[in-house]
Amino acid sequence: MPNIVHIIGAGISGLSAAVRLASAGYEVHVHEATQQAGGRCRSYFDSATNLTIDNGNHLLLSGNHHALAYARSIGTEARLVGPKRAQFPFVDLSTGQRWHLDLGDSRLPLWVFDEARRVPDTTLLDYLALMPLVWAGPEKLVGKTIPCKGNLYQRLVQPLLLAALNVDPPEGSAGLAGAIVRETLLAGGLACRPLIARDGLSAVLIEPAIELLKKNGARIRFGHELRELATLADRVGELKFGDDAIAIGPNDAVVLSVPPRPAATLLPGLKTPAKFRAIVNAHFRFDPPPGAPPILGVVGGLVEWLFAFPQRLSVTISNGDRLIDMPREELAQAIWRDVCKAGGVQGELPPWQIVRERRATFEATPEQNALRPGPVTAFKNLFLAGDWTATGLPATIEGSVRSGDRAADLVLARRSA
Ligand SMILES: Cc1cc2nc3c(=O)[nH]c(=O)nc-3n(C[C@H](O)[C@H](O)[C@H](O)COP(=O)(O)OP(=O)(O)OC[C@H]3O[C@@H](n4cnc5c(N)ncnc54)[C@H](O)[C@@H]3O)c2cc1C
Repeated sequence: MPNIVHIIGAGISGLSAAVRLASAGYEVHVHEATQQAGGRCRSYFDSATNLTIDNGNHLLLSGNHHALAYARSIGTEARLVGPKRAQFPFVDLSTGQRWHLDLGDSRLPLWVFDEARRVPDTTLLDYLALMPLVWAGPEKLVGKTIPCKGNLYQRLVQPLLLAALNVDPPEGSAGLAGAIVRETLLAGGLACRPLIARDGLSAVLIEPAIELLKKNGARIRFGHELRELATLADRVGELKFGDDAIAIGPNDAVVLSVPPRPAATLLPGLKTPAKFRAIVNAHFRFDPPPGAPPILGVVGGLVEWLFAFPQRLSVTISNGDRLIDMPREELAQAIWRDVCKAGGVQGELPPWQIVRERRATFEATPEQNALRPGPVTAFKNLFLAGDWTATGLPATIEGSVRSGDRAADLVLARRSA
């Protein structure tokens, strides 16, 4: 049994591996480069809005089984909140049309047979035309697999796949899109309930994990960036952090759960995705109007999803590279105009914050997907985790947790070997 497992990177993947291993009785040491855990999934106090905000609005679905099991393991599943049924209100800003997509609460996608519940102006045949996605290979393009036009595409498939893949859907990997469709739409409303960390990402998904780890005796070190992995033949022998170094015993293990760029620097020769896409989030200090839905799908505008939190309206725009260089004030004004139309609110631009995560996710194209490595490395005590490793899913919390669980399971398997 390894004496100590070192987890490098305290994002969701590192934390899920750490929690699993600490619960299995391992001594866990977590090393995080920054002063805060959470990585791309974190909250912080923002002085512009005078609120604690998330770096980005994160949506989970009830079919994200690994993510929910992770939340359960840290005692916060009940703090992922959403409507009882998988209902999604939508608005088209170009026409003003509003509709409710009602996926129900079944294990089967029965809603596609009910005209009143499906996307307006669509037929059963439109849904059947999506089936080739379900068995498409990862090397195929979405644009070469399903029709990327028409009402169903514009009003449901495009928003869903854009949010999941973070690329314009036709250029995305059909295999990754198919995984999303299989695990959500095809799994019925039961798998599609939207869930939000209402109290904030850190409060629900990060801090409780850190607390649990500490309670289980784990050592968590912030500002502790791994600079070099020194190897001895077929294993990692030392971790170098700049000011200090830690010897890795023959029975110790290392889980490297950092983003692709640092991973490739630490492990020369490692193939990783090298192209990324931005996600833009805007947060407005504004009380949502009574009855505002927690999440509203928006098509035909700049805004894609509008979230209502206590004291705050918040917006997500995926595939946001085109907005990276736009002056911040101009962008905030443009987004606020869409928020007013979509959310039925009025008023001058309230206190706001724009968060542009440049490398929010790897590009979920066939080309970049082919560069994702599995968890096993050339070194027998080193395992990889992260949303960019070969999880079969795009870069999501669910993929991230799966990768952490998988790396932890490989460490656990060494015990019995
Ligand atoms: C704006 C935005 C919106 C998103 N929306 C959604 C959503 O709605 N639903 C969803 O499921 N997913 C969403 N995602 C994706 C989700 O956030 C990620 O998939 C997930 O957080 C990735 O976790 P990770 O552990 O794989 O990587 P990271 O979060 O990147 O964690 C890696 C950690 O390693 C640390 N690190 C780096 N180098 C070193 C080093 N040398 N030594 C020590 N530590 C190091 C980093 O500081 C970081 O803490 C979104 C992402 C963003 C950015």
